[in-house]
Amino acid sequence: MSPKKKKVEELNKDSESEGKERYQTVRGMHDILPREEAYWKTIREIGYEISELHDFSFIETPILEPAGLFEEGIGEATDIVEKEMFSFKTRGGEVVVLRPEGTAPVMRSYIQNHLGHFASPLRVFYEGPMFRYERPQAGRYRQFHQWGFEIIGDGDPFYDVQIILVTINFLTALGIKGLKLKINTVGCRVCRPTYRKRLLQYYKTEKRGMCKDCIRRYDKNPLRLLDCKEKECEEIRKGAPIILDNLCQNCNAHFKETLELVESNNIDYEPNPHLVRGLDYYSRTVFEIASEGNPKLALAGGGRYDYLGEILGGRMIPAVGVSLGLERIIEYMKKENIAPRKRERKNVFFVAVGDEAKKRSLRLINTMRLASIRVLESVGKQSIKNQLRSADKTKSKLALILGQRECFEDSIILRNMESGEQETIPIEKMIEEIKKRLR
Ligand code: AMP
Repeated sequence: MSPKKKKVEELNKDSESEGKERYQTVRGMHDILPREEAYWKTIREIGYEISELHDFSFIETPILEPAGLFEEGIGEATDIVEKEMFSFKTRGGEVVVLRPEGTAPVMRSYIQNHLGHFASPLRVFYEGPMFRYERPQAGRYRQFHQWGFEIIGDGDPFYDVQIILVTINFLTALGIKGLKLKINTVGCRVCRPTYRKRLLQYYKTEKRGMCKDCIRRYDKNPLRLLDCKEKECEEIRKGAPIILDNLCQNCNAHFKETLELVESNNIDYEPNPHLVRGLDYYSRTVFEIASEGNPKLALAGGGRYDYLGEILGGRMIPAVGVSLGLERIIEYMKKENIAPRKRERKNVFFVAVGDEAKKRSLRLINTMRLASIRVLESVGKQSIKNQLRSADKTKSKLALILGQRECFEDSIILRNMESGEQETIPIEKMIEEIKKRLR
């Protein structure tokens, strides 16, 4: 035996004997298992309903995108681009990344496919996995799912608040209560540079007390100094100038109107002058939504990104959007005992006894499925007793039993699982009789 083969065999032996798996999910990534199905289905069903109700159309972009899309779009000095991208070179030499977020790809698609011609503004939603090389911890993974809404082509605060409302309506429809909006503005190209200067002036004298990350941020991305979670930096932040005192007239008016709309829609909100969010493309409105059960872990975050179109395509395209973290939402629902949607699923259980019956069963089961009858089975369990036990476990109301005699007579037994009553009917009446009983 070759040494390589021997090693593989030994490895196999080891993993079998110790009950250990040879392969596990990559760190920070997880399987979504059948027992989670009800939550994922609920989110997706409600997500689709809410999207339709609010007139958002579906869009799906590839998971791989050119690295430049995020380097330019999100910004070189952001955490995501600096240290969180899964990037690699393809065989053809292209540098690509597993998308870390959905907004830049949607804007790329908007420009590439001239989507502005179809609606103004364009309203789209997406759902899918995102990848960030972050330090895994509660509510933070390296692969996670986001549901996003984007409104592209209009700068009016009316749309900022529509984005906030669709998010709140989505979370509320899922049964999440006590939602709180944290909102701020990060200004625009006119007022942000002045504010940035003031911020740098202030922090210059505080540098000695700042954390390592903030010393780096000071040079590269000073606005991010405001949302550092380190204790010493939070203390320094208390004396920092705030953007609201430095807004230009237009940004001031935009923020004021946004807040008026937030108030008139009875949204529970709190202005937070330190909210800047991790992505560079935001302008004016930025926000996060959390629930009172866990106010520190945002379920959704978003904002306006009026310059992204220009960065990627050469012209200004006002836009606003949000993304919701689906794993976090599910974890929250579980923690707060919010049940996923229950659906009453009527099904029949098919029992086959003997080889001939088993041979015929797949065709019969398929005939029923084509007639929209949900059929469960465990024909692999040979005995009728075991199969009926499975029927009981699945809470099926009706079992269909096909034995040797029934095969011979072209009939089938219908068994009421609650009363135990049985009746033999001709096979050609099967569909009609099942439908009658399931009604
Ligand atoms: P962002 O794209 O960073 O604005 O995040 C929007 C939402 O996505 C957050 O509010 C979270 O709910 C979720 N999210 C962001 N990063 C992660 C992560 N690493 N793991 C799980 N959820 C995340």
